[in-house]
Amino acid sequence: MKIAILSRNKNLYSTRRLIEACGQRGHEPMVLDVLRCYMEVVPSKPEVHFKGEALTSFDAVIPRIGASVTFYGTAVLRQFEMMGAFPLNESVAITRSRDKLRSLQLLSRKGVGLPSTGFAHDPDDIQDLIKMVGGAPLVIKLLEGTQGIGVVLAETKKAAESVIEAFMGLKAHIMVQEYIKEAGGADIRCFVIGDRVVATMMRQALPGEFRSNLHRGGSASLVRITPGERATAVKAAKIMGLNVAGVDLLRSERGPLVMEVNSSPGLEGIEKASGKDIAGMIVEFIEKTAKPHMTKTRGAG
Ligand code: ADP
Repeated sequence: MKIAILSRNKNLYSTRRLIEACGQRGHEPMVLDVLRCYMEVVPSKPEVHFKGEALTSFDAVIPRIGASVTFYGTAVLRQFEMMGAFPLNESVAITRSRDKLRSLQLLSRKGVGLPSTGFAHDPDDIQDLIKMVGGAPLVIKLLEGTQGIGVVLAETKKAAESVIEAFMGLKAHIMVQEYIKEAGGADIRCFVIGDRVVATMMRQALPGEFRSNLHRGGSASLVRITPGERATAVKAAKIMGLNVAGVDLLRSERGPLVMEVNSSPGLEGIEKASGKDIAGMIVEFIEKTAKPHMTKTRGAG
């Protein structure tokens, strides 16, 4: 198969592993920097061009679209979908998962366990917002943040008020969330492919830190998950419409709570922690699933 890998940098671990896995399984991978792709949008013959050439006949596309290029990246992916290529994750599902507010609304509608969460833009009554999610201690998150940046634990009501006021002053969108203390600074990344959790790892924060992001010094280790956690992760990916997803769970007294569903989960941490060939499993999934003109999105969405 001819497989396009949409990635801005072919030296990134995940991209390198996907190139390797495609090669090992007898496919022809090509890495495309989405920002350098350009498109003609015409009714009968949609095209994507790259470096002066029209790209044709890709069987599948693996999107590795960073959060900062979601808008243009999903447009390029959509163009490939219109040309009939099989997207590992659909453009619509990626857009959906990148919107944290929309994601949590969709998950809650389907009864998936979530930390109690409030969203606000410019509330007149911050005390009520705090009360709504159960009071302090609570976690305040900038909606635009990644890798743990902009995630603050406010231990007291006073601290929560000050932080919320400060973020509001910056005109930032924020999320106010119940602090899951019993998670003990750990979260569980479930790597989902299709309808299976193929690998898991526990990320543990440094002492004195509650954010377990590996970028924040957290460490990864193997973990066994329960059937309930497995089912939650698979369900969350399915609700988002993602074939491949990194579902982050917190272990709470009331069972697994979904924190985030990531549409371009990194391979380095999970391959190293699990010792599994996740890149190979992704390519195998494409082999089994890809058919031309399969994008299922209905309506005008
Ligand atoms: P980012 O998307 O920037 O990584 P997250 O929302 O995943 O931000 O939060 C970063 C880390 O903070 C998580 O991996 C988790 O360890 C911790 N964390 C986030 N929300 C909560 C919460 N409500 N209760 C307890 N810990 C949390």
